[in-house]
Amino acid sequence: MLWEEHAVDHSKTGEKPQMTTGAKASTEAVRHQNNGLVLTALRRDGPLAHTDLSGVTGLSSSTVSSITAALEKSGLIERREVASVGGRGRPRVLFGRRASAAHVIAVRISSHAVQYSLADFRGTMVDRIEEARDQGAVSPQQFLTGFRTALDRLTSRSRLQPDAISTVSISSKGLADREGARLSWSPVFGYEPLDFEAALQGFGAARVHLFNESLLVTHALATRLEKTRGVPLASLATLSLGHSIGLGVAMRDRYGALDVRAPNFGHMLHADDGKLCRCGARGCIEASAGFYGILRTAFEVPPDTIPAQFVPLTEMEKIATRARQGHRASQYAFRQAGLALGQGLSRLLSLAEETMPIAITGPGTRFMDLLSRGIDEGLAQSLHVKVRGSPEILIITEEETLVFEGHVDRALTEIEQGLGV
Ligand SMILES: [Zn+2]
Repeated sequence: MLWEEHAVDHSKTGEKPQMTTGAKASTEAVRHQNNGLVLTALRRDGPLAHTDLSGVTGLSSSTVSSITAALEKSGLIERREVASVGGRGRPRVLFGRRASAAHVIAVRISSHAVQYSLADFRGTMVDRIEEARDQGAVSPQQFLTGFRTALDRLTSRSRLQPDAISTVSISSKGLADREGARLSWSPVFGYEPLDFEAALQGFGAARVHLFNESLLVTHALATRLEKTRGVPLASLATLSLGHSIGLGVAMRDRYGALDVRAPNFGHMLHADDGKLCRCGARGCIEASAGFYGILRTAFEVPPDTIPAQFVPLTEMEKIATRARQGHRASQYAFRQAGLALGQGLSRLLSLAEETMPIAITGPGTRFMDLLSRGIDEGLAQSLHVKVRGSPEILIITEEETLVFEGHVDRALTEIEQGLGV
């Protein structure tokens, strides 16, 4: 094949076709894209032999040879020889990513802890620090100072200089600005903004990204589902249940790539019921369905009672046990939470004009037996569901790994696509 670019499937790379001027720029862009294809294949399926690399990427044997030679020369991949099956004949050569070629730090900020993970160029976690969050008052400035100290500690523990870190990828619940790395509102700091880019000034040359946690969960889950199902996913929504309510939506864009967003679902108006939310508004979905909302209804305290800062899971388990034993107010609290979620989801499906599968994640999944009746009822009330049917609901109990995978996959994909080897 003369022009390999025709064989490139943009849906696999997530890269948009580039406008190029002249044959040289075009060849350059194709080489760039093919580098990305080879590196991504080695991350997801590697280490791979030459023939398998050609099979997975769809690139010709000669193209694979020239790309692997260039990537090896620039230190991004390495080869190792393994004995052939049965120990006879020539050893097989396998290509793999060189672990130390780049590093990514993924930081997950949650209501009770901050987790700092270091991943290498293969996407493998090499170290992790977890710090319990002080429930007392910590100013944004104090938090950012502690944040910077933790990053220094994590890099020096692995004997790395800050320059070895390509990306610092941070996630939190709340409102993250799409541009820059600024958290405009979060359950932890309220309306006090946190500017991570400014806080990391002088920390090597790392790119700094900030994501809403649900966006990463959706990204990672969509990637996993595509791999296990073996077909491209048209769309997916994930709903995270816990102290906060998070939502992520993945939809395929016109270039065939999955566009993932995290709309502000938890603070969407649910009902004019006077329930006070952590954001200060009344009637948000979270005010009914977040852990503090369930606790408030179960204990029959007034709906405008100031939300608890944090509800331990053991407290939620107690309410759930009482509900399972027939305690009316506790049953009602979970039912109302389910209803708020179901009605919110039915609005989402109506707006999206699509019945997408919905994956439910987070610590709240352990109460699905108490929540599902309300969720089903809320969904069934909409015309969209009456006409198009109920969406497929998946329960995914693991969330922490998904957040890490989302961070690392996005960061490494960005590095792979930007390498001008
Ligand atoms: Zn709210």
